[in-house]
Amino acid sequence: MVPTLRSLLAAGAILLTAGPLAAATRLTSHVNGALVPVEWKASSFPIAYKADQRLIAALPGGAAVLDRAFGAWTSAPNSNVSFRSAGIEPGLRAGKDNQSVITLTDELFNDQKAIAITTTWDEGGIITEADIQIDASLVNSTYNIPQAIAHEIGHMLGLDHSGVLSAAMYPYVTRGTDAPALDSDDRIAIANIYPKGNLTMAGGTLQGRVVGDSGPIFAAQVVAVNDEGEPVATVLTDASGEFSLAGMPDGTYRIYVEPLDGPVETRNLSPAWRQGVVSAFATSFIEGNPIHVESGRVYGNLVVRTRGGAVELNPRWIGVAAANSAEFALTSTAATVKPGSTISLAVAGDGIFSAMTTFEVLSPGFRRVSDYRYAGNYVYANYEVGSTAPVGSAVIVVSSGTQTATLTGALRVQGGSGPGPGRVRGVRG
Ligand SMILES: [Zn+2]
Repeated sequence: MVPTLRSLLAAGAILLTAGPLAAATRLTSHVNGALVPVEWKASSFPIAYKADQRLIAALPGGAAVLDRAFGAWTSAPNSNVSFRSAGIEPGLRAGKDNQSVITLTDELFNDQKAIAITTTWDEGGIITEADIQIDASLVNSTYNIPQAIAHEIGHMLGLDHSGVLSAAMYPYVTRGTDAPALDSDDRIAIANIYPKGNLTMAGGTLQGRVVGDSGPIFAAQVVAVNDEGEPVATVLTDASGEFSLAGMPDGTYRIYVEPLDGPVETRNLSPAWRQGVVSAFATSFIEGNPIHVESGRVYGNLVVRTRGGAVELNPRWIGVAAANSAEFALTSTAATVKPGSTISLAVAGDGIFSAMTTFEVLSPGFRRVSDYRYAGNYVYANYEVGSTAPVGSAVIVVSSGTQTATLTGALRVQGGSGPGPGRVRGVRG
């Protein structure tokens, strides 16, 4: 059975940004006619917040859930963010009043099927307040509440959504109870806004532009994937097609660019990202050898050329089942797999054709051990996940004829201290 995206999204819950926001993909704001990324100034840290008593009472785990969600961000290396609880009070309301609050709401988001929303206010691009509202339907659900709150805290800090399926800033929430965790993409995004010391010296910098048949491409997702297949960091191109990623750990990277054509689309982002004309293009890898990145060095003038035209191939869902099984619960969120296991892995979406479409996992820890099989609009095969498979998220590359497409962060290899076996795959909002 292959569910449609519509039904999957209806079953999921979307985490929204709203208000005078704009959204490292950054939230932005209009300042003197220009869109600028918003951020807290250094002297705002630790950011003080108050929590509503009713929310704390309703949260399974109480105030400790908030502490862990904030802790996911404060423990990110190379970044300088901190928070301070200013107390738990009854009757707190969201709204501009120069104090940041986390509150519970009953009815606000029913129409939008959202389960949480963050509003930020800024003056000239400097954030002065951010309020997080949690819908009552979330605290009574099987969605991963700590992870959803960590996602909202990312917005509070000025981050917009990420197209990496395994990232905390991916706009759909999973079910489950895992401790909130950041992906490499989240850690580097936050370090790019609030670097601890000199980020250019703490890592390498990748700069370049994305051009298509008719000029620069706006809001294309640029991905730097290391030689273990991990999508280490992503960024969206600006209106000039340019991108910059600082704080890249030493390593060897390939760069590719993919369109925001689902699961994440520009409509999932704040208004600034919806302004440009998003032209269709095929996922494209930069030509030439992988780039050896060393801290303190800038790798500039990287040019990714994309091919336009009709793009039929568009994988949107994955499924993981026991080896040889063809019974998949297809979702648009990252699936967690265990090292030392054999799984049946499926990819579904548009433009997948029998005997023509194939896929690989961009990680040396994965080895295909069966032929490809086809059913409906999906292709599947058995994969061995090596006992020493690199821990972290991985990329699936799908090929069909001359077309290539990626599902960035579609798989997450479980580590010793990483997500537990209880992670439930689901749709993330
Ligand atoms: Zn969100």
